[in-house]
Amino acid sequence: MPKNGEARVLPIYQSTTYKYDSSEHVGKLFDLAESGFFYSRIANPTVDAVEQKIAALEGGIGAICTSSGQAASTLAVLNICNAGDHMISSAAIYGGTSNLFGVTMKKMGIEVTFVNPDASEMEIQDAFRENTKLVFTETLANPTLVVSDIEKFATLAHKNGVPLIIDNTFATPINCRPIEYGADIVVHSTSKYMDGHAVALGGVVVDSGNFNWDKGKFPGLTTPDESYHGMVYTRDCGKAAYLVKARVQLMRDLGLTPSPNNAFLLNLGLETLHLRMERHCSNALAVAKWLKINDKISWVNYPGLESNKYYPLSKKYMPNGTCGVISFGIKGGREAAVKFMDGLKLAAIVVHVADARTSVLHPASTTHRQLSDAQLVEAGVTPDLIRMSIGIEHVNDIIADLEQALACVPE
Ligand SMILES: *Cc1c(COP(=O)(O)O)cnc(C)c1O
Repeated sequence: MPKNGEARVLPIYQSTTYKYDSSEHVGKLFDLAESGFFYSRIANPTVDAVEQKIAALEGGIGAICTSSGQAASTLAVLNICNAGDHMISSAAIYGGTSNLFGVTMKKMGIEVTFVNPDASEMEIQDAFRENTKLVFTETLANPTLVVSDIEKFATLAHKNGVPLIIDNTFATPINCRPIEYGADIVVHSTSKYMDGHAVALGGVVVDSGNFNWDKGKFPGLTTPDESYHGMVYTRDCGKAAYLVKARVQLMRDLGLTPSPNNAFLLNLGLETLHLRMERHCSNALAVAKWLKINDKISWVNYPGLESNKYYPLSKKYMPNGTCGVISFGIKGGREAAVKFMDGLKLAAIVVHVADARTSVLHPASTTHRQLSDAQLVEAGVTPDLIRMSIGIEHVNDIIADLEQALACVPE
């Protein structure tokens, strides 16, 4: 909150650097004996304000903003996993995260076991090893819209002495606050609904402050960090141990830093997030219901539909709505899908999802176009699948657009 006479709107501190009157003062900042800014790779006042806002939205003790969602997942995992460690992840996660874990982290010596998110506690328990350091899932998976049973994952993680990290990008803290169901760390791609205007890439890591790191599994947090003059994060920082380590060690070394200008844009998005999510959800539900009874549509996947497999879980964890993304199949397969897409006027063909404008993607002819129909089915992306990200336009305009585009598809 601005003080008397200060700017009402969050100012952009477009500065890498901060000026001090004495080197003694700067020394205290480095010792973390006093709080303040010294270099924007570590912290910046504009970014800091946004971090505090997101931490409050999620009910965490603090947050670190990053340059992208991918950077947030990287930071969240590397903060507690080293070469030789293992992690468990839901198989139903964003493709980029799946590559990060299964390919790039594997090259770094961190092994991942992907589990079916619907598997029983006993089945998932079998995936744990001596060196397992975390469990990862998505509240509402992009793009499959699988809803995670957060309490099941949290119980399993805690029984095995490791934290649960949840990617809450699609639900946003407006629709779900995973910390309330036992998640320890929450990550986001803020590039989606939080920004909401498709103008700035970004990510964030939020810490609940609830996890007890002191049980011997996380020496990086409980033994001296020689690169930070012997600091023991759990001893010296208490509940903030994970966040302080992530910032002073990993942000320092990896520089996954967002720009102050992007933090300003993200803040603008956050100011209307609660209103936009309401509209995204009511629009998406209305569109899903309309598609469901349309003769040219063969199936609709939206967890807000009562007939959806994940409806009960979505009601438990997201009682006020899920998100604006739906997927559906069109009769006539690949060819009909292309005709329909080309007929759309309001909805734009883009690769992005989860912003204010309705957009649409046909994976079989774009992101997955190198695959045959049989390979597509195996990847869970049928040739007729259309992914639609319902925006905040008037719902009648969106449905009118769908109606006229479907009229372009032969019976
Ligand atoms: C987009 C996305 C990411 C990656 O975020 P970027 O900001 O594009 O790096 C991670 N998780 C989910 C669920 C996403 O939708």
